Amino acid sequence: MNTINKITGILSSWGNYFRIKAVSYWLTSLKIPDALIKTAYIPYGNGRSYGDCALNSTILHTTKFNQIISFDNKLGIIQCQAGILLADILEEIIPHKWFLPVTPGTKFITLGGAVAADVHGKNHHKEGCFSTYLLNLELLLPSGEILQCSPQKNAALFRATCGGMGLTGVIISVTFKLKAIQSTLISQKTVLSNNLEATFAAFEKHNTATYTVAWIDGLTSKKQLGKSVLFIGEHDSQGSFDYSSKQSLSIPRYFPSFVLNPLSIKLYNFFYFRKQNKGIQKVPLNTFFYPLDAIKNWNRIYGKKGFIQYQVIIPKVNAYNGIYELLYKIQQSNHTPYLIVLKLMGKENDNYLSFPLEGYTIAIDFKMGKHLLSFLNQLDQITLSHNGRAYLAKDARMSQPFFEKGYPRLKLFKDIRTFHHLENLQSLQSKRLGI
Ligand SMILES: Cc1cc2nc3c(=O)[nH]c(=O)nc-3n(C[C@H](O)[C@H](O)[C@H](O)COP(=O)(O)OP(=O)(O)OC[C@H]3O[C@@H](n4cnc5c(N)ncnc54)[C@H](O)[C@@H]3O)c2cc1C
Repeated sequence: MNTINKITGILSSWGNYFRIKAVSYWLTSLKIPDALIKTAYIPYGNGRSYGDCALNSTILHTTKFNQIISFDNKLGIIQCQAGILLADILEEIIPHKWFLPVTPGTKFITLGGAVAADVHGKNHHKEGCFSTYLLNLELLLPSGEILQCSPQKNAALFRATCGGMGLTGVIISVTFKLKAIQSTLISQKTVLSNNLEATFAAFEKHNTATYTVAWIDGLTSKKQLGKSVLFIGEHDSQGSFDYSSKQSLSIPRYFPSFVLNPLSIKLYNFFYFRKQNKGIQKVPLNTFFYPLDAIKNWNRIYGKKGFIQYQVIIPKVNAYNGIYELLYKIQQSNHTPYLIVLKLMGKENDNYLSFPLEGYTIAIDFKMGKHLLSFLNQLDQITLSHNGRAYLAKDARMSQPFFEKGYPRLKLFKDIRTFHHLENLQSLQSKRLGI
């Protein structure tokens, strides 16, 4: 039976910059709700994308479609319904000594959201995107047809769906390979660098490590631009399998906007960078992969107007200059970068709209404020002049020309949409970008 609930209310995504009135339906069976047959809608996972890729006036929620269908704990192959959270998959697989092959910086996303954004982790330079590990996915088209997709079967639709931001159908189940681990501890090495050149040198020196990520202090002098702490991680070879996804701290309501200001973040950065121990430590998996998950609703710190994360990637040959220019432009402006993360990325895959390419990606959080949008357009010019592009899962504002220049396989993606009659699948983002 097709038991679908319907609710009208205000919906947002992680950045809280967009707040829209939407009619929400829930996927609870293998059928598109009748009300959506002639309506434009977009699948919604757990709303951890930052901008408007999961927003529209009609939404199809997937989180009630959240069961593990099968788990071969000998081979490390799992099939789940797409609305399950990565956090719930971890609870199931870790006691059997398996981990996710690729994980983003939060475990509170759905499996469908992981595929639709083709997420990357701290291991992209060595192990690629989430889609690398997919054996199959089942896709429910607006016509009601269900197609099996993999690199071998319906390959073009598979390439469009991984990274396709929900615009090719509703992913209903995903089968993928897990990664064997020997403990839930991570052997973490910390390297402090005093400027961007040293940060890049540290990344390159450790480019054979499995996981690397740098947190950059965005409030330094020009001389120290790009000062960072680089975390390098490997799964430890021994230890327990203790694990819990529970969050103990929470921010119950939005902070007043004056709380987060350049002075408070300067103080925070000062203590954060001072407290880092150089050398090697064993840290729990949650600490290494999901530091921001420790506080539920941390996005409320930015106040009611929300925030924007500017995440772009720049090919390796241009990466140092491009990222230096971005950081310098920000330093010269009155827009405060509250959080900056830098990652080394490996080879581009064959998917039509996946974000990563061989180079460096930088993600910068800005509190929403006066003139921020026009300032970000200026950052786009720098990104573009270094042949970079922005990440759709974080985007809330890029222009269509900027998007089109960054994604040369867009035409293949659009052809797939036309071929399978997917015009009903629309988000605020897809309309803005003319996808
Ligand atoms: C703290 C934090 C850290 C993050 N770190 C990273 C990171 O390191 N690397 C990275 O790559 N991303 C990262 N992200 C982004 C996040 O992984 C992606 O935005 C992800 O897509 C969110 O999944 P979701 O389930 O919340 O989906 P939503 O935000 O609800 O939706 C995202 C997109 O997926 C589509 N979608 C969702 N479910 C389905 C489905 N079943 N079928 C078809 N389409 C679907 C939606 O239409 C939308 O286009 C981070 C986000 C946060 C909040």
